[in-house]
Amino acid sequence: MSRISFNRKRAKLVGLLGIRARLVLLALILVVPLMVERVRSLEDMRAKTIAEINHEFDKLAQRTVKAQREVILSVEAILKSGSQIYLSGARLGDACGLMRASVPTNLPWIRDVLVLDTDGRVACASADVGDINLDDRDYFKRAKAERKLVISDYIVSRVSKLPTAVAAYPMSLADKGNGGVIIAGINLDWMSKIMDNLGGRPGVSAVLVDSAGTVLAAPSDQASMIGHPVDDLRMLSAIETSGDPSNSATGRLHFTAANGKERLVSFSRVPGTHSSLIVSIDEAAASATINREIRKAYVQLGFVGLLVLLGALIAAERLIVQPIALMTAAARQFGRGDRAARVARSQLPAEFVPLARAFNAMAARLGRRESELLAANDRLTVMASIDMLSGLANRRGFQSRLDFEWCRAQQTGERLSLLMIDVDHFKLFNDTYGHLEGDTCLHRLGEVLGGIANRTRGFAARYGGEEFSLLLPNTDAGVAMTIGETVRAAVQALALPHATSSHQTVTVSVGIACTSPNETQQPMELVEASDAALYVAKHRGRNTVVEHGFVGVSDAEADAAAMTRAG
Ligand code: GH3
Ligand code: MG
Ligand code: MG
Repeated sequence: MSRISFNRKRAKLVGLLGIRARLVLLALILVVPLMVERVRSLEDMRAKTIAEINHEFDKLAQRTVKAQREVILSVEAILKSGSQIYLSGARLGDACGLMRASVPTNLPWIRDVLVLDTDGRVACASADVGDINLDDRDYFKRAKAERKLVISDYIVSRVSKLPTAVAAYPMSLADKGNGGVIIAGINLDWMSKIMDNLGGRPGVSAVLVDSAGTVLAAPSDQASMIGHPVDDLRMLSAIETSGDPSNSATGRLHFTAANGKERLVSFSRVPGTHSSLIVSIDEAAASATINREIRKAYVQLGFVGLLVLLGALIAAERLIVQPIALMTAAARQFGRGDRAARVARSQLPAEFVPLARAFNAMAARLGRRESELLAANDRLTVMASIDMLSGLANRRGFQSRLDFEWCRAQQTGERLSLLMIDVDHFKLFNDTYGHLEGDTCLHRLGEVLGGIANRTRGFAARYGGEEFSLLLPNTDAGVAMTIGETVRAAVQALALPHATSSHQTVTVSVGIACTSPNETQQPMELVEASDAALYVAKHRGRNTVVEHGFVGVSDAEADAAAMTRAG
């Protein structure tokens, strides 16, 4: 990509992003990594919490298994000593009596102790149980066949009619020829009791199951499970198949329950038995508390993020956008011609104050300069309409004043008279006295005319060359004639020598015109009329005043028109 097109694309992108969007983006760049880090730590915490729960239950389960193992060992010891006492007693002729006397009956984990003969009939019992035969019981057969301590699955005792597990110890271990079996009912309530430390946790179930998957014991809050098959028998087969079968005494596995919930299962075989302690943790339920915490943290995080964004927007608005808008407004106001427009520095953040100060100083300077320019312009305008030689208005000044007085007379209906004054034989004057003297003469005439204009409230101007004009607002032809005569006489009275003139002094001829301006007339008509009168004056011998007569409508018509307007 060429550098130019890259720069163009960049400019386009920057153009798309206003200052607010850029500040929000900046805030996001700052906040997002923090949020991501926080989310990561929360997820870590979740995993850690589940691991801790696992660990804690592992330990509790091991302790429980140990306690249960001790129960089994204790039962085994009782049965072992019971069988020996029974056999010794047989030699003494009172086998049952001795056995009954020696077997402890007050241990909470043992119910009855029974000696079964080789056919499964009760030969001796710690308490009276009547004539029952247990040769069909699996534990009886297994103990005889396996010649070791055997713990039965869950059964309902024919002696106590209570759910129980039976420990069976073959007598052949003490006396090879003896086919009998000594048994003891294990109190499952006791087994449950020593599991109580595994209960009371949401999402955690702990059960002791037999080889068929029937629950033998459970903490009191899960006691309803006792005697029933474990929730999900698939879990058992999963336990069976997990890991190395030869070393499957303990293990841990992930298991998806029938209801779809993920469970973390840890199991321990109680040594010397076919029963296992299974602790299964519903990960979702177990982490419900931490999940709640995490949800709360997410909400807080979102809230903080929102606050940061809002803060960025407000900051952008107050610290940048508003000051710029304030300064733009002042600049616009100034541009519209309000020279007093200034930026209120007190409303700006400190960083904008130098800019505002510079703007205000610039505005003040520009204001001053404009005032100077306006004054200079005024002076130039005045100078542009003044004739330097005579000190009167020039042709231009005359023209604009004529237009003005014309309009005013149109509105008021007043008369407007004009005197055109031309120096007689001025060319000869120049020829005789020189151009400089001619200028001086024109200057003197200007003074005379200016004086008369002041007195008559007229407006005197140098119309061009040696020709002057005297505009007389609100003056009728009669008065104008008088003033014309005054002018003529005043010039003559100056007695400026003019040897080559027939009058011997400088004289002027005056042409007079008077009108009452109306919409159909033009100012030039008045000028032309007075000029025509001046022409006549020249022809009458100069140093003369001639009136043109009313310009436009007749006097009577003009009077009528004036009255109509006035009325
Ligand atoms: P008339 O009586 O018919 O007006 O004759 P005139 O000589 O005055 O008229 P003309 O138009 O023939 O000559 C005007 C003279 O005025 C010619 C010119 O040199 C002179 N003039 C015009 N402007 C100036 C000026 O500013 N200074 C001087 N010294 N002379 C000027
Ligand atoms: Mg002339
Ligand atoms: Mg002349």
